[in-house]
Amino acid sequence: MVSAARPYFEPVMQTDQHLQDIRESVKAICESFGEDYWRKLDESRGYPTEFVKEITDSGFLGCLIPENYGGAGLGLIEACAILEEISRSGGHPGAAHAQMYVMGSVLKHGSDEQKEKYLPAIASGELRLQSFGVTEPGTGTDTTSLQTTATKVGDTYRVSGQKVWISRVQHSDLLVLLARTKSMQDRASKTDGLSCFIVDLRGAEKRGLTIRPIDAMINHHACELFFDNFEVPAANLLGAEHNGFKVVMDGMNAERILIAAECIGDARYFIDKATDYANTRVVFDRPIGQNQGVAFPIATAYAQTEAASLMVDKAARLFDTDKPCGPEANMAKMLAADASWKAGDTCLQTHGGFGLSREYHIERKLRETRLYQIAPISTNLILSYISEHVLGMPRSF
Ligand SMILES: Cc1cc2nc3c(=O)[nH]c(=O)nc-3n(C[C@H](O)[C@H](O)[C@H](O)COP(=O)(O)OP(=O)(O)OC[C@H]3O[C@@H](n4cnc5c(N)ncnc54)[C@H](O)[C@@H]3O)c2cc1C
Repeated sequence: MVSAARPYFEPVMQTDQHLQDIRESVKAICESFGEDYWRKLDESRGYPTEFVKEITDSGFLGCLIPENYGGAGLGLIEACAILEEISRSGGHPGAAHAQMYVMGSVLKHGSDEQKEKYLPAIASGELRLQSFGVTEPGTGTDTTSLQTTATKVGDTYRVSGQKVWISRVQHSDLLVLLARTKSMQDRASKTDGLSCFIVDLRGAEKRGLTIRPIDAMINHHACELFFDNFEVPAANLLGAEHNGFKVVMDGMNAERILIAAECIGDARYFIDKATDYANTRVVFDRPIGQNQGVAFPIATAYAQTEAASLMVDKAARLFDTDKPCGPEANMAKMLAADASWKAGDTCLQTHGGFGLSREYHIERKLRETRLYQIAPISTNLILSYISEHVLGMPRSF
C-alpha cells in the first residue's frame, strides 16, 4: 500500500516503457503470492515451489536465455527490474535468482553441445539450475586457495572436498561447481588451476555427495556439501580446464548487479511501509510522520536508495552493452545493500514495537536484506577492490 499523500516514486529504470510493462506483469504475479505466503515459508523453512513455477512459466526466470534457446533474450536491465519488483512486493527472489546469473556462465563458456543440452531445458523449467558451488569452510573469501579437488581419471573427474553455504542445492537439478584441477604448487598464477563443472545433482547423494542443510537466520536453503570421490563426466567441464576462475568471475558482475537490484526492491518496500505507517499512526494526537525525528530518517533512506538505484542502472546498462563494469557492479551492490539495510532499520524503528512483530513482515525482510552485506561478497572486499583496482592503492592482502 502506498499512501495517497505521496506520489509513487518512479524507479530510474521505469523510464523505458517496456521495463514498465515488465514491472507491471511481475507485480501482478507477486500479488497472488502475498506477504503471508513468504512469512509461512520463512517459518516452515519451505521452498516457494509454486512461485518459482509461476515465474518460470511466465518466462521471467529465463529472461536472460537467448531466444534461440527458448528464453526471452532480454538483458540484465530487464532482469534487474524483475528481481526488484519481486523484492518490493515483499517476496524473496533469492529462491530463484541464481538461475539468472549461473546460466550466464553456461551461455558464455559452455560448448555448443552443453548449450543445446541445458539451456532450452532450463528455459522451460524442465531443468533447474539454481546452485553455484564456490565457498569453502576453510578458505572463505579467499577463493583462489580453495581445496576441493577434481582429479581426471579417464573420461571423468573425481571430486573430493567440502563446500559450505551452497544455496538451493536440494531444489536444483544442476550445480555449477568450482574445484581445483592443479595443485597450489603447480599453478602458474593464483587464478590458474581451478576448473568449473556442470554437476548433475539428480541421484548425486547415491554417488558420493552428502548434503547437510544449515540452520540459518534466513530461509535461503543453504547447505554444506561433502564430495567423496564423486564422479563428474569430463564432458561436463565448463570452459577450458584450469580456467574456471575466469568462468566464475565473468558471472560475478551480473550476480552483483542483480543482487543490488533486489536490495533496491527491499529498500523501496521498507520506505513504502515506513511512509504509510508514519502517515497513519497517530500518537500524541498527530501522525508520527509529523515529527521530523521520524520523517527525516525515512527521507534520508529515500535519497540513499535513489542514489544507489542510479548506480545499479548504470552498471546494468554497461553490462548489457559489453562494456567493463567491475567498479560499477561492485559499487552498486555495496550502495544498494547499505541503502536497503538502513531503510529496513528505519522502517522497523518507525513501527515501534510492531516492527518486531512477525505479522508486520519487516523483521523477516530485514533479516533477508542483511545477507547482502556479506554475500555474494562482503562490503570489506568491495572496498578493497575499489581501493586497489579503481584508486590504485596498494593491495592489502
Ligand atoms: C545465506 C547464504 C547463502 C550463500 N550462498 C552461497 C552460494 O550459493 N554459493 C556459494 O558459493 N557461496 C554462498 N555463500 C557464501 C558467501 O558468498 C560467503 O559467506 C561470503 O563470500 C563471505 O565468505 P565467508 O563467509 O567465508 O567469510 P570470510 O571470508 O571468512 O570473511 C569473514 C569476514 O572477514 C572479512 N574479511 C576477510 N578477509 C578480509 C580482508 N582481507 N580485508 C578485510 N576484511 C576481510 C570479510 O569481509 C567478512 O566480513 C552464501 C552465504 C550465505 C550466508
